[in-house]
Amino acid sequence: MVDDYYSILNIEDDATQEEVKRAYRKLAKTLHPDLNKDVLGGSAEEFKRVKEAYEVLSNPLKREKYDLELMRAGGISPTVSQSNTGGYRYTGPPIAPQKGSDVKIELSITFSDSFNGMKKGVDISMPIRCDGCDGSGSEHGSPVSQCPTCKGSGALLAPVQTAQGYVNQRVICSTCNGRGILMQKFCVKCSGVGLINGIDNIQISLPAGVEDGAIIKLNGKGGYGLGSGPRGDLMVTVSVDEEANMRRVDNDLYIEESISLPKAVFGGKQRVNTLEGRRTLRIPPKTRSRTEFLIESEGFPDPVTGDHGDLYVVVYLDPPEEISDAARKLLKKLALEIGENLDDLGI
Ligand SMILES: [Zn+2]
Ligand SMILES: [Zn+2]
Repeated sequence: MVDDYYSILNIEDDATQEEVKRAYRKLAKTLHPDLNKDVLGGSAEEFKRVKEAYEVLSNPLKREKYDLELMRAGGISPTVSQSNTGGYRYTGPPIAPQKGSDVKIELSITFSDSFNGMKKGVDISMPIRCDGCDGSGSEHGSPVSQCPTCKGSGALLAPVQTAQGYVNQRVICSTCNGRGILMQKFCVKCSGVGLINGIDNIQISLPAGVEDGAIIKLNGKGGYGLGSGPRGDLMVTVSVDEEANMRRVDNDLYIEESISLPKAVFGGKQRVNTLEGRRTLRIPPKTRSRTEFLIESEGFPDPVTGDHGDLYVVVYLDPPEEISDAARKLLKKLALEIGENLDDLGI
C-alpha cells in the first residue's frame, strides 16, 4: 500500500513545487509539535506524515519515482490511452525539463596545494544520466516512437491567458508529458525517470593561493537535469589541511624554524624548507628565540590578483629531545662557566 502524499498535503497530483511548499507550510503551522505543545497525542504523528510527504514531493527526483509507484498502485492513471497514440502507451511519469540539482561538496587539500593551486579529477556522487536507457526513461531495446503531437520536442506553443489577453507560450506536451517519446516499457534501473544516483568525475581546478573555507562555483557541473533540462551547479567548499610548522595570516606565510643554541649564539646558515623549495637563511650572532626574518613577496599569492604576500621565518630555540652523556657534561660545564647556579637547574 502506497501512502497518498498528495492527499496528505491536500493538493492535486499536478501541483507545482510552489504549491507543494505552500501546502506544507500551512500544515506545518497547525501541526508542528513545537508550536502546539498543548495539543496532546495525534499531532506529532500527523506532522511526521506531512513532513515525509513534503520531503518526497518537494524533491523532483523522489517525486518522479513516487508518482510511478502511485501509478502502479492505481493512484494516478496513465495520461495517454492506447487508441490515440498508435498502439504505444505512455508508462513513465511526466518529465518536464528541469534544471538539475545543485551539488555541494567539501574538498580537502594540502597546505602546499593551497599555495601552488591544484587541478584534479574528483569523483562526486550526484544524479547522473541513467546508463540503462541513456536518459530516455524507456527500457533498453523496448520500442519507442516519437511523440506525434510535439514531434519529439516535448513542448508545444499553446495560447495561455495573461493580463494582456491570450499569448502563445511554450507548454509541456500533454501527450508525452514532456518526454518527446512514447514508450511501452519504462527503464527498470531508473524507474523511468532517466536519472540515477551515481558518480561523476569532475575536473576541479583551484587557483594558487586559494583560502580555507573558499567556495568555488562550477556552473553546469552539478546534477543532471530532468528531461532536456540543463545540469545544476557544483559548489566546492575548500578545506585546507594544517601543516605542522606553517601558518597563513592573510597572504603572509609564517614558517617556524628551530635553531640550535650554538647557532643562536654564533650565528650561521640555516636551511629552511619553504613551499617553493629550500632557502638558506643567514642567522646573525646573538639571535633571540622568536626572532622573525622577513623575506618579501614569498608568501601566498592572492587568488584574484596574483600578488604575493610576504614570508616570515620565525626561529626558536629547540632543546634536543635526547642528549648524549658527553653533551650533558659539556652543557653542565657551560652552565658553570656562564654563572648558572647548579642548584637552580634540574640536574
Ligand atoms: Zn533508465
Ligand atoms: Zn509530445
